[in-house]
Amino acid sequence: MAKTYKAVEVTAPGNLRIVERPIPEPDKGQVLIRVEACGICHTDSLTVEGQFPGLSFPRVPGHEVAGRIEAVGSGASAWSAGQRVGVGFFGGYDGHCELCRRGDFINCKNLTVSGISVDGGYAEMMLADANAVVSLPDSLKAVDAGPLLCAGVTTYNALRNAPLRSGDLVAVQGVGGLGHLGIQFARRMGFRTVVIAIEKEKLARELGASSYINAETEDPAAALQRMGGAKVILATAASSRSMGPLIAGLAPRGRLVVVGASAEPIQVDAVQLLFGARSIEGSLTGTAIDIEDTLAFSVAQNVRPIIEMVPLEHAAEAYARMMRNEARFRIVLTTGQ
Ligand SMILES: [Zn+2]
Ligand SMILES: [Zn+2]
Repeated sequence: MAKTYKAVEVTAPGNLRIVERPIPEPDKGQVLIRVEACGICHTDSLTVEGQFPGLSFPRVPGHEVAGRIEAVGSGASAWSAGQRVGVGFFGGYDGHCELCRRGDFINCKNLTVSGISVDGGYAEMMLADANAVVSLPDSLKAVDAGPLLCAGVTTYNALRNAPLRSGDLVAVQGVGGLGHLGIQFARRMGFRTVVIAIEKEKLARELGASSYINAETEDPAAALQRMGGAKVILATAASSRSMGPLIAGLAPRGRLVVVGASAEPIQVDAVQLLFGARSIEGSLTGTAIDIEDTLAFSVAQNVRPIIEMVPLEHAAEAYARMMRNEARFRIVLTTGQ
């Protein structure tokens, strides 16, 4: 049996290279995963560009990891060799900080983040904390599971945790990696789903949009108000500038839920928040059990990502293409396992 495995590591900001590493033994509380697929997410740029505070190199990016258990460490007996599993952004928690003691594991002060604080899934093998591992449904292919482990749980949790009732008007802004899944979830959760985008009407409707607003030719907020106002706007575009004006499209007590990340500020008119008690909030991914719920819902309701498959060896080019906004809609690295 091979004693080494291929990994794509960041050696310095902007520099991805392929290396051979010795296959590690899982430590206490860990499992070793033989990776079959790993999605490329925009958040990987925190690792590749070296933007995450305190990041150390070399580091293997990747937090949309699907594969099989290769070996199980002591104290991780909930898992067994050969089992199909995945790992998302949530890579584990310390279990003893105040937030963990309150059961808020995703906000753990010492959160482990796959591909940032520990090596991730741009590799043939990955060590993972047993608490972060999720079981994959039999009928879900590894390449389809990958994007659901991050983009999927992010949009699924944002919608299911919002104060919504079936039939409510929900707007999804953007039809990219997050948005193309958010539209499917919103429709299948029973919401009237309106999509705000540019030049994506046909696809938006195929994914489940009941209405479409072309943000280039009409004012999205005015269009939403003509429909009665949105109870929730799921803002998935990585552009804060496009989010602020949407607040005027919310119904009273409506929420702008931000899941698309960009460093620039969101401009808000305070009067729009006060009158109608509108709010803005962020929603960050989910824990292992949230991911299992996402996968179960996706299987039951036939939600799938639209993917392109690229061999692991071409990770650097694939990452660059994602950063140029050329991925339609998720590039998934495959190891040929
Ligand atoms: Zn991600
Ligand atoms: Zn904690």
